[in-house]
Amino acid sequence: MVLTPYFSSQVIPRKEGVLEYRQETISGFSCRISPGRLKRCIDQPQFDLPSGEKCPFCRETVFHETPEFPGGGRVTRGESVTFPNLYPFARWHTVTVITHEHLPATFSRSQVTDAVLAATDLLSDREGYSSLNWNYLPSAGASVVHPHLQALCDDRPSFVQGIYLSGAKEYYRRNGRRYADCIKQWEQSSPRYLFGEEVFWSAQPVPLGEREIRAILPVSHPSEFGPYAELFVSGLLRIIRLYRELGTYAFNMSLIFDKKPSSPSFNAFCSVISRINPNRSSTSDSAFMERIHREPVILTLPEDIGPYLKDSMSVPDW
Ligand SMILES: [Zn+2]
Repeated sequence: MVLTPYFSSQVIPRKEGVLEYRQETISGFSCRISPGRLKRCIDQPQFDLPSGEKCPFCRETVFHETPEFPGGGRVTRGESVTFPNLYPFARWHTVTVITHEHLPATFSRSQVTDAVLAATDLLSDREGYSSLNWNYLPSAGASVVHPHLQALCDDRPSFVQGIYLSGAKEYYRRNGRRYADCIKQWEQSSPRYLFGEEVFWSAQPVPLGEREIRAILPVSHPSEFGPYAELFVSGLLRIIRLYRELGTYAFNMSLIFDKKPSSPSFNAFCSVISRINPNRSSTSDSAFMERIHREPVILTLPEDIGPYLKDSMSVPDW
């Protein structure tokens, strides 16, 4: 067992290759790393989704077929259009369509910066625990291909948000230092460090998903995010390009904030994970909530299952 200040690791040499168990100290999250399994090549070559399709988020329809805010209207910034989610699973739940184009080949910095700022400006005025999220492509759980962000704000944090908020608080209480500052110091000289100082990008040692990359921001709340938006988006686009060079196009992203500005203990952070490429049957029922926030969004009321089973008793067994 190798002990490091922020995660533990147990490496088991096997004839098929190394198997490693890792656990992150602050969160208790664990994973198994088994590079030999890459040889199975389960990822799919990028499947060309039909680019000529239209959807409610396309420019011709977005102002007619999407909901408006209670006072009326939608928020536009550059190419982006923001409106309430038609099927919300949070107290505040908006959708921000990023591009005019239904399936753009690439994203420009201004397209994504405008979208991110439109969503976080609205979050700035909300009371509660916020996050900004992106499911890109159906295999990452996006129900609409047209690129869009989702901003959430709730009275309570998501599971992962709560774990890191309370962990950072406790770390500060015990050590008199921010956990994020220690991570930056430790990771700077590790092979996981990627780039950036003010917005610090590195590979997460105990990943929540494939090729998880995290960014640590010098702010805690959406109201403080604006001055760093462009720098953040440049880094995010660099990660998206890196994923594409590695052969994956689909990803989930969550940018997780604290409830209050100027938190003494917590730095907002972004997690990005790569997902299997879209293939002919790859619409996924797991998205950022399931994969990054570790809080599944459930559609079926558990109390409905018993009555359904009883009602279906008349159906003969297989
Ligand atoms: Zn569209």
